[in-house]
Amino acid sequence: MSDYQPTIGLEIHAQLRTRTKMFCDSVNDSDERHPNTNVCPVCLGHPGTLPVPNRAAIENVIRVGLALGGRINGAVKFDRKNYFYPDLPKAYQISQYDRPLVEGGTLQGVRIRRVHLEEDTADLRHEGGVSLVDFNRSGVPLMELVTEPDFRDADAVAAFARELQLILRYLGVSAADMEKGQMRIEANVSLNMGTKVELKNINSFRAVRDAIEYELRRQEDVIAGGGAVSQETRGWDEAKRKTVTQRSKEEAHDYRYFPDPDLPPFDTAIFDPETLRYSLPELPAARRERFVREYSLDAQQTEALVADPDLAKFYEEAISELRSRLSAGGEAALYNYLTSDLRGLMNQAAVSFADLKISPEGLAHLAVLIELKKVTSRQAKDILAAMFRTGADPEEIVKSEGIGISENTDEIQAVVAAVVAGEKAAVDDYRKGKTASLQFLIGKGMAKLKGRARPEMLKDLFERMLREE
Ligand SMILES: [Zn+2]
Repeated sequence: MSDYQPTIGLEIHAQLRTRTKMFCDSVNDSDERHPNTNVCPVCLGHPGTLPVPNRAAIENVIRVGLALGGRINGAVKFDRKNYFYPDLPKAYQISQYDRPLVEGGTLQGVRIRRVHLEEDTADLRHEGGVSLVDFNRSGVPLMELVTEPDFRDADAVAAFARELQLILRYLGVSAADMEKGQMRIEANVSLNMGTKVELKNINSFRAVRDAIEYELRRQEDVIAGGGAVSQETRGWDEAKRKTVTQRSKEEAHDYRYFPDPDLPPFDTAIFDPETLRYSLPELPAARRERFVREYSLDAQQTEALVADPDLAKFYEEAISELRSRLSAGGEAALYNYLTSDLRGLMNQAAVSFADLKISPEGLAHLAVLIELKKVTSRQAKDILAAMFRTGADPEEIVKSEGIGISENTDEIQAVVAAVVAGEKAAVDDYRKGKTASLQFLIGKGMAKLKGRARPEMLKDLFERMLREE
């Protein structure tokens, strides 16, 4: 690019998937569409109420810290972050200031500064000239991860965010859907270690990349024009595809953090982090390595499986079954029929793996039939569609529907003779040297046999018969 060295750091918030909210027993449900349903005096911020910490939320953040190789702090506490806004009736947010649950760790070479736990605010809706407050989101446990400013370009940021999302999903701690606001990314962007601009309102991975790229260009233009970048918060305007000023430095807050007197400090030893460490699942990076080692897959195929834990589980069970039936082969067919044909059928019918009638064993069995050339690829697609509808075993479908390759030479010979007798014009054309006519005759024969012949065998029999006559 240029003489300008970009420096980018991230703050990522993720709503934790717990049964109840962070400090009360109201239900934590980000899909609740009726406003102000999951509320109580605590998360409405009524005076005189007392918060009770959610054990599962604390464990979830500790597990994230362990997965990222971070240090779990012993003595930790909750602090009040004071500011007034209509989505925060207490006028303070319970967060963690100088004793976060996790410090340190790395992901994709980027250093993690800290991971802490706080509560989400209510949701403001601006409709028809009025502003409405929905408290369903108020008090939902929110994890905040802060990185060191180690990123140098927008692509690295997007890759990091995707990998973090995958880790949160593998750990089962957050659905981390950006479009639903379950995962929110803010980026601090500066050039040559100069003034930092904070980017907000980024609702997709694509927007993360676009917003940062736009902002780097904008700052470069400002500096190249002899100006100075001003310290401010800018939002990403998706429609205009640019960042726009939201808040300047003069309006910046002093939050006056202090320890929350309602929540005594505690030691994370009571959560037994070492036991939590042993409960961690296989994480995406380890799974990638293992898949490349154990299965003959390339990097792109591996990624498609690793990015979708349900798909990966189905694949592994099917491969295991395939290997118990065949000493070698069939793996390419299995991968292709799973990731292309079966996924196509599932998408069309909006069926998830949980509701799928085809078992991994059934799909493996189909791959065996394909590998042993007992069915053609055209037939395999029909069989798969029937399996998808009924869940039946492919061999049963082959029998009941009378499909499968015929090895009966007499039967095929008879069909070839009938086609040759019935297609005089094409036969004459072929004899005059029009070789394309042979393909036409093979097609006729295949249609009469309903696809139950090997194309090479049909071609051979036609050529022989046309030579003889
Ligand atoms: Zn509540």
